[in-house]
Amino acid sequence: MKLESLVIDGFKSFADKTTIEFKDGMTGVVGPNGSGKSNIIEAIRWVLGEQSAKNLRGSKMPDVIFAGSTNRVSINRAEVSITFDNSDFYIQDNPEKITVTRRLFRDGNSEFMINQRQCRLKDITNLFMDTGLGKESFSIISQGRVAEIFNSKPEDRRSIIEEVAGVLKYKQEKHVAVRQLEETKGHLDRVSDIIFELK
Ligand code: ATP
Repeated sequence: MKLESLVIDGFKSFADKTTIEFKDGMTGVVGPNGSGKSNIIEAIRWVLGEQSAKNLRGSKMPDVIFAGSTNRVSINRAEVSITFDNSDFYIQDNPEKITVTRRLFRDGNSEFMINQRQCRLKDITNLFMDTGLGKESFSIISQGRVAEIFNSKPEDRRSIIEEVAGVLKYKQEKHVAVRQLEETKGHLDRVSDIIFELK
């Protein structure tokens, strides 16, 4: 699954509809201080279901709507759409392209859509569960957390990398399989003992 594009319209400093296409080879976004680089990341967080205004550097959710600037009046609606290329069907039972949209009006009303069909926030959360894009995943690491990760113990850092790489799920499955093998071995030993006694 690949991040294909992001459309930001009325979100934070993006007063005008802006489309960012994540083509092959794109590795970064550069720009002067305050030009909106972090707002792009926050738009991604928000459209994927972020519910905490604090995590988006605001005090209440409508703070994400373009609040006006010296030469532009404020607007009343923020909208972000994110499109993933799912042609490898990484998210099973879903189409080759998945577009998730979130809209918020200044009066507090909000709308969520998956492929242009209205849905609940929960449907979006469920869609990305176990994909590495979930709420607590490390696919997006905020500036503050970088130092925290650098300063963490090597074992903790390793588990963060494993979670990002999707290894943790397999490690847990391996742990369950090894336990079942041990249980089975115990049962086989008991069967051997019984056979020995019956002989
Ligand atoms: P730095 O390199 O300093 O980290 P940056 O490129 O990441 O900066 P951002 O933090 O994404 O920049 O953008 C900050 C800008 O976004 C500020 O100019 C701020 O006024 C503007 N901004 C944030 N929220 C809103 C809003 N709701 N309406 C209008 N502008 C906003």
